[in-house]
Amino acid sequence: MATASESYLEGEAVREARELVAELCRHFYAQGWVTGTGGSITVKANDPALPLAQQLIVMSPSGVQKERMVAEDMYVMSADGKVLSSPVSKPWPHKPPKCTDCAPLFMKAYLMRGAGAVIHSHGMETCIATMLDPGAKEFRITHMEMIKGIKGHGYHDELVIPIIENTPYEYELTDSLAEAIAAYPKATAVLVRNHGIYVWGDSWINAKTQAECYHYLFDAAIKLYQLGIDWTTPEHGPINSAKRPRSVLSSGVPNGCSDAKSSKHCVVLDIEGTTTPISFVTDVMFPYARDNVRKHLTSTYGSDETKEDINLLRAQVEEDLKNGIAGSVPIPPDDAGKEEVINALVANVESMIKADRKITSLKQLQGHIWRTGFESKEMQGVVFEDVPEALKHWHASGMKVYIYSSGSREAQRLLFGNTTYGDLRQYLCGFFDTTTGNKRETRSYFEISQSLGVDSPAQILFITDVFQEAVAAKSAGFEVIISIRPGNAPLPENHGFRTIKSFSEI
Ligand SMILES: [Zn+2]
Repeated sequence: MATASESYLEGEAVREARELVAELCRHFYAQGWVTGTGGSITVKANDPALPLAQQLIVMSPSGVQKERMVAEDMYVMSADGKVLSSPVSKPWPHKPPKCTDCAPLFMKAYLMRGAGAVIHSHGMETCIATMLDPGAKEFRITHMEMIKGIKGHGYHDELVIPIIENTPYEYELTDSLAEAIAAYPKATAVLVRNHGIYVWGDSWINAKTQAECYHYLFDAAIKLYQLGIDWTTPEHGPINSAKRPRSVLSSGVPNGCSDAKSSKHCVVLDIEGTTTPISFVTDVMFPYARDNVRKHLTSTYGSDETKEDINLLRAQVEEDLKNGIAGSVPIPPDDAGKEEVINALVANVESMIKADRKITSLKQLQGHIWRTGFESKEMQGVVFEDVPEALKHWHASGMKVYIYSSGSREAQRLLFGNTTYGDLRQYLCGFFDTTTGNKRETRSYFEISQSLGVDSPAQILFITDVFQEAVAAKSAGFEVIISIRPGNAPLPENHGFRTIKSFSEI
């Protein structure tokens, strides 16, 4: 077939396709879709119904002024993406010719959808449409006449366009574009956040018509947004009412309307007594660490991590001996032998635990023992049965969920990474521990609200079982709910906070 392709290369169809792409580039430049050398266009030179081996693809080059494009600037490729013909180099100040960075993305539309043409636009409306709701994974619109211009859609239909996240380099979008194409069989376009859109059609005419309709619809959505009119419902009521656009509602992202202040963006959760029975930490985690000091030190004795743990413990014990802390015993030097050293370490750690000391050397060792326990599944994190469901729901609706607990962040990650419901960290955005501050002090919650970058602390919902923590968070402006779980301490009378027994009540 190679010879057939070669003869086609100089044929009328390729000549016309080269000229067509140059013309479309000039036209789309005038529309603002391909300015600043951005965007790109590709068409098949012959009927896409022909066998793949007979098809030739014409693509615009990269980095060339789109309105000055001529037929000779184009690349011609085979159906499997091999470059068959490149433009000749032009003298300075032109750069050496380079095929569009979009080539691997265009090939996805050709191969996965049998497209006849693909348009990549950087039109400003395509870019801003993805910013109306930064958390949305789709752009949705309904009941607009121009939806009829999109293949397979009528006036009453809801048009859904997937949004993928932008990357520093165009080719890095290839996988996520392919995933979106596969996940949305009805779609003829994919939006790239803060970037633009890829539109494909059976022919260049079809791709161009649809691209025009898409740009019109995005422009309309942006104007309707400014007018406070909802473009996602059939009646197009005011955004400002209970009928805010679903895409805006679902993410809880502010939409510039007066009621945005009351929407919650973030949830901060305490662990003990809130997501997890208090007894899990006191009855499972701490005893596990206590009972496994010797086993852990023995099995990891030579590792760098344990060497560092031992050095920290040595320094602490030396300090303790100087200060006459009860229960501290001298640790022999390393050359006294592994067993001697471990015996002394175990004795010291046991008395530290008994005295409930909050010291780094002990916390660090406990963290490492827990990790071994979780990794070997000797221990699994426990959360109340409503917790995984709520985390999934918040995550899906674009709410960001954080943990704030007195246990170390490492221990928090281990607990949520190894629960009886599997790894729940995928639903969490971050962990705070007491390095942020004491949980009963208001300034710790100021610190958290700064870290989360919300406009107002009222956009954060904090859930805890501890009254003093609730008071501190409320003083910082957080919305607070007190969690009532089996085994929690009683609350003061008339505490004044909303209470829940399950996250499903939120
Ligand atoms: Zn681009």
